[in-house]
This record gives sequence, structure tokens and C-alpha cells, in this order.
Amino acid sequence: MGSLKIENVKKSFGPVDVLKGIDLDVSDGEFVVFVGPSGCGKSTLLRVIAGLEDASSGRVLIDGDDVSTTPPAKRGIAMVFQTYALYPHLTVKNNMGLGLKQAATPAAEIDRRISAASAMLSLEPYLARRPAELSGGQRQRVAIGRAVVREPKLFLFDEPLSNLDAALRVNTRIEIAQLHRRLKATMVYVTHDQVEAMTLADKIVVLNAGRIEQIGAPMELYNSPANEFVAGFIGSPK
Ligand code: ADP
Ligand code: MG
Repeated sequence: MGSLKIENVKKSFGPVDVLKGIDLDVSDGEFVVFVGPSGCGKSTLLRVIAGLEDASSGRVLIDGDDVSTTPPAKRGIAMVFQTYALYPHLTVKNNMGLGLKQAATPAAEIDRRISAASAMLSLEPYLARRPAELSGGQRQRVAIGRAVVREPKLFLFDEPLSNLDAALRVNTRIEIAQLHRRLKATMVYVTHDQVEAMTLADKIVVLNAGRIEQIGAPMELYNSPANEFVAGFIGSPK
């Protein structure tokens, strides 16, 4: 299971209100995409969902458990960042396995999961390399593989394709969609790219200045944007 419930989440940094009351339900297995302009609070919301940042008020529940009171290892969340966040001194294999090793997972189980994930992501030829010996697309696949081996119920992606060139963006996007179909895990994906949102999402959440403007299936938003802002981001050209 991997249901997510966000209840009236607000987040301020000093005097700056970044999230101004976010409510959202995500069902188990759903692919939800947050879109919105730079600075609207997408990454902050993702970090609050992950429990990396405490909400100023409100709650985030994963399968009914409050993230802020659940120890990180028990949250069942894995996050993929725009900048990959790999350890430069570790091989691909050890980057993927480090979190499991720290959680005292038996070595044979770590190997089994790395084999499965590297087959899924075509990473087998690179397991002995270090991140500096990989292309950007390969590095991002390693970061995704590192998330997969943890077998999370909830994947969080923060603009994972932003640092890739156009062709790699398409390929990696397709791989993420395949991964979702295969693993049937819940995925929450942040982007400012309309095409990514339209092609990946079961449900799109349009954010603007710390609030939700509209939630709906891609074609719903495209055909019936609630307002000018949504139309500008997703909707059909007027
Ligand atoms: P997005 O991911 O949509 O581009 P962010 O969530 O990164 O937006 O940021 C939203 C706003 O919150 C921005 O104005 C940013 O400067 C501010 N912000 C984010 N993190 C912090 C922080 N740790 N301290 C102060 N302000 C922050
Ligand atoms: Mg961001």
C-alpha cells in the first residue's frame, strides 16, 4: 500500500508563507504530478511529504501514519533529486546498495535487489563504475535505481529530468512510466514541464504561489481549465 493524505499543510520560512494550506489525497498506485512555476513551493511540498522538512501546521499521512512521527526508515519513501545526489567515491553498485546496507539488509538480499533494479534500468554494464564515469542520463538512472532497491511504497521525484538534454529527457520519462506500470507503487512527481505532466500523470495538481489552483486528470485540465492560470500552464490555447 502507499496512500498519501495531505491535510491543510502550511509551511513558512520566517515571514515568508510558502505553502498556504494544501489538501490532497493520493490513492495507492496513483501517479500524481505537481506542476507550477519556479518558486511556487513544489520542492518544499515534496520535502514536507518526505518528512525532510516539518510542516508549520497540518499533517501528512502515509497509509494513515503521520510522517513527522514515523522514523525515516519506516516511512517507505524514496526520493529522486534533480541533481542525482550520488556519492562520487562509491561505485554504481555501492551507491545503489548503501541505504540497504545502513539498514542492515543481508548482503544476498542487497545483491538480489540490485540485480533486479539494474536489469530494469539497463544498468548492468555500469555497476563497477563511479558516477564521474557515467553520462547524465546514466547517473539519473542510478539515482532511480537506488530508490527502486529500497522497495518504497511511495516514490518522490523532484524535477528528475531537468538536467538532461531533450532526447534523454524523453527516454528517461518513458523509463519512469514503465517503472510505474511494473512496480505499481505510488509516485509523486514534480515538474514545471507541461509535456511531462500530461504524459506521466493519472492526476495533475497545479500549484501557484503556495496554493492548489486545480486538481484533475490531464485531459480534464486541458479541456476545462478552472482559470486563466491553469489554462496558461496546461489548457488548450485560447
Ligand atoms: P519550487 O520547487 O516550486 O521552485 P521551492 O519549494 O523550492 O519552489 O521554493 C518556494 C519558495 O520557498 C521560494 O521562494 C524559496 O525561496 C523559498 N524557500 C524554499 N526553501 C527555503 C528555505 N529553506 N529557507 C527559506 N526560504 C526557502
Ligand atoms: Mg523545486
